Amino acid sequence: MSDILARLAEMQSADVPITGGRTLAYVYDSGLAEADRVGREAVAAYAGSNGLDPTAFPSLLMMENDLVGFAVRLLDGPASAVGTVTSGGTESVLLAVQGARDSRPDIERPRMVLPVTAHAAFHKAAHYFGVEAVMVDVDEEFRARPSAMAAAIDDRTVLVVASAPSYAHGVVDPVTEIAAAAAARGVRCHVDACIGGWVLPYAARLGRPVTPWTFAVDGVTSISVDLHKYAYAPKGTSILLHRTPELRRPQFFASAAWPGYTMLNPTMQSTKSGGPLAGAWAVVSTIGDAGYLALTEKVLAGVDRLVSGISSLPALRVVVRPESTLVAFTTDDTCDVFTITDAMTRAGWYVQPQLSFEGHAPTIHLSLSAATADQTDEFLAALSGAVSEAVAAGPIAIDPGVVEFVRSLDAAALSDEDFDGLLAATGMAGGDGVGLPASMAEINALLDLAAPPLREALLTAFLDRLLRPSAQL
Ligand SMILES: *Cc1c(COP(=O)(O)O)cnc(C)c1O
Repeated sequence: MSDILARLAEMQSADVPITGGRTLAYVYDSGLAEADRVGREAVAAYAGSNGLDPTAFPSLLMMENDLVGFAVRLLDGPASAVGTVTSGGTESVLLAVQGARDSRPDIERPRMVLPVTAHAAFHKAAHYFGVEAVMVDVDEEFRARPSAMAAAIDDRTVLVVASAPSYAHGVVDPVTEIAAAAAARGVRCHVDACIGGWVLPYAARLGRPVTPWTFAVDGVTSISVDLHKYAYAPKGTSILLHRTPELRRPQFFASAAWPGYTMLNPTMQSTKSGGPLAGAWAVVSTIGDAGYLALTEKVLAGVDRLVSGISSLPALRVVVRPESTLVAFTTDDTCDVFTITDAMTRAGWYVQPQLSFEGHAPTIHLSLSAATADQTDEFLAALSGAVSEAVAAGPIAIDPGVVEFVRSLDAAALSDEDFDGLLAATGMAGGDGVGLPASMAEINALLDLAAPPLREALLTAFLDRLLRPSAQL
């Protein structure tokens, strides 16, 4: 290995592991070494190919149509269905919103109706495209309320959104009722199946109960499904499907208004690496339909074992029965999720804390991979140890003066100097500037006290100070 590749490997060893099944957020591991190898080699082989022009790179066009065809069959698409491969779930969501907005140029101030559990990517879309997000409350099990969603649709609505499943709690919204309400008003309905779209159809085939949500449901006009999650593809691919080419049309962008090549893009990128697409094609070809069915059976059996194991720990409670590969659980008042999260990190397991929201307690989120399903006993043993540690330590106690101070802060009124002070006070910055904190529990506990706008502002200030030029290279 060259010195530089050795240096890369050394740097990468500081990251959470991307294989091995012990990272339960951000990465999805099939546990299939051959699928991984083929995917990586395909990425490397196509890293320099440019998806900008399918006439120059016809192999990329073919791979895209193959992947979209697979997804259309998987998600009960009609013969008219079309799709495009994007760089990820966020781009798929952004384009679903942009397309919906631009399909209604007659509406001056467009709106979209979202359950509060919809992914933050929709808020990003609202921000980028000037589409107002109308937020609708969910029921006790965190599923969208169809009657409230229907009532929120008005003459300015360009899009209604449902999740299959939602990221935070892993439950599927009642898509049939929501899509019917949208269709009755002539409004588009997007189902965000970014995380569950490659799992739920197989779960249904395995005989598990799955709320209908695909194109089999009348009124569903578009669906997003990520390949870089449960298709176990390398990072950088998602698919946005539309029921008809007409629904997709506003997404396309062409410009001949300059002296160079006519720019013609189906998605947000123009020059785009062929690597992720080839990687996804290689992985989906390697695993195949039967392979995904087997991986789904394996991972869902793992979810069942985790849910019963977590439920048997007295301090813990699974917040809602999972409908796919996502598990959210919380604690009683003998301990807190942030201490557990750090203890799990020390034990070699990465789990993701979710802050309290609208009166609901903070939780720990698990995105289970097939590779984790083999190790549920080890996971549960580590979790049990982490809970014991957290109970022994007791819930993080924050000084009441600090609590009051944090609650009194108005994010909009804070200056850069205020943020420097706050970052230092919260342990998010050390003596020699901002670095990555070694322990997160206190920081998370403080963020948990803050209202969402302050969380956003503090973390933005933190990121701003992390992203500074170095003189290493
Ligand atoms: C992951 C996810 C997204 C965003 O996808 P990225 O690939 O992270 O951009 C959107 N919606 C849901 C439900 C997701 O789980």
